[in-house]
Amino acid sequence: VTDWQGKNVTVAGLGVSGIPAAKVLHGLGAVVTVVNDGDDERARAQAAELEALGITVRLGDGATLPEGTELIVTAPGWKPDKPLFAAAAEAGVPVWGDVELAWRLRGPDAAPWLAVTGTNGKTTTVQMLASILKAAGLRTAAVGNIGVSLLDAVLGEEQYDVLAVELSSYQLHWAPSLRAHSAAVLNLAPDHLDWHGSMEAYAADKGRIYEGNRVACVYNVADKATEDLVREADVEEGCRAIGFTLGAPGPSQLGVVEGILVDRAFVENRQKNAQELAEVSDVNPPAPHNIANALAAAALARAFGVPAQAVRDGLRAFEPDAHRIAHVADVDGVAYVDDSKATNTHAAEASLAAYESIVWIAGGLAKGATFDELVAKSAQRLRGVVLIGADRALIREALTRHAPEVPVVDLERTDTGAMLAAVQEARGLAHTGDTVLLAPACASMDMFANYNKRGDAFAEAVRELDAVDG
Ligand code: ADP
Repeated sequence: VTDWQGKNVTVAGLGVSGIPAAKVLHGLGAVVTVVNDGDDERARAQAAELEALGITVRLGDGATLPEGTELIVTAPGWKPDKPLFAAAAEAGVPVWGDVELAWRLRGPDAAPWLAVTGTNGKTTTVQMLASILKAAGLRTAAVGNIGVSLLDAVLGEEQYDVLAVELSSYQLHWAPSLRAHSAAVLNLAPDHLDWHGSMEAYAADKGRIYEGNRVACVYNVADKATEDLVREADVEEGCRAIGFTLGAPGPSQLGVVEGILVDRAFVENRQKNAQELAEVSDVNPPAPHNIANALAAAALARAFGVPAQAVRDGLRAFEPDAHRIAHVADVDGVAYVDDSKATNTHAAEASLAAYESIVWIAGGLAKGATFDELVAKSAQRLRGVVLIGADRALIREALTRHAPEVPVVDLERTDTGAMLAAVQEARGLAHTGDTVLLAPACASMDMFANYNKRGDAFAEAVRELDAVDG
């Protein structure tokens, strides 16, 4: 345990992780300086609040290492190539992220962590996991990027038996000593490469989640890169590699047999070689990628010793968050589904795979992505496409190449009202039994404050159709 009294700590970045970190460190007796790139009104208000406590804040100067710094605690989003970190390396100053700080501050009897990362499905999987653990009567919470913050979970009054922890690649990058009970990497597709520098660096940061695991490293059988990360990880003796698959499971795997989720890794009855956990229809929604999420959650829960019955009860009790394949309404025999959270091509591919005949609403900020693979894989299922947003031309070109027969309406609009027009166009293209699917494969910030607002606009537009109808 570190003695914090009088220790000079620099917190990099005001914001959701920096402010609580600064307060906690200050409370422990550290001498805290917060550095922040921005110097706007919001930052000034936040700075004033911290300064009132006796914390030093330097606005508009996130590059200079304050004199005497012994430790940097950084916001996870700060890029490793920032000058502040070069200066820290030069001076031999360690850099921790918010997760590392929480890990180091947890008490001696702290709850073990079941950790989840991956390009897509993290939040859903962690919530499913928490639901399963609760069904088993365990005191737990879904923490990390969601719900309770890690620092609160570790330092707060509430006692936990186990934590279901969502970790981003950024957080893992800055968490060198984290050791989970068990961990899962759900999938690996190119994302955030501008931050990590390369796919290799991104994968290596994700792979950190397996380091030092005690019981199980859970990987995706269909995504070999995740299995490679398990092989490369340095784990505790006896820690097992556990695969999950949408097909029939091999030994040490969880999978699906005739509509039943089956566990061949943690078998309770020695007479049998498989344990039935739940039915596919217990998973909400029962789309393939979501069944994969459920299997990963089940694998972690089973690694923690949770009985089969609790897996089923927990999955049944689970409600997905808004804007993740949310069914909005049926209008004229057409289903309208909001997957605004599909902000990258890998996520959109998963949701397009969940429906047979789709009118797809897509577009927004591409973040450097290419759309050829997504469009080629999904072309068969597309009844039509409606494009909105700044980078829609990239998708249109991919459609021309890989789905030339599919009718495309290019709205050439980026105003907020475009969503209503898009839904109206989609309705015109849809036939009875089709699904109109908002799965933009892009970020929303060209048109909306965030993906929530984009999804809300879609739902509102659908309700308007419905009202006109009624
Ligand atoms: P994250 O926390 O990783 O962003 P979410 O659970 O919030 O993940 O899901 C984000 C989006 O990713 C969903 O709306 C869905 O489109 C897609 N998705 C969810 N699970 C998976 C998965 N296992 N594989 C691919 N895409 C997925």
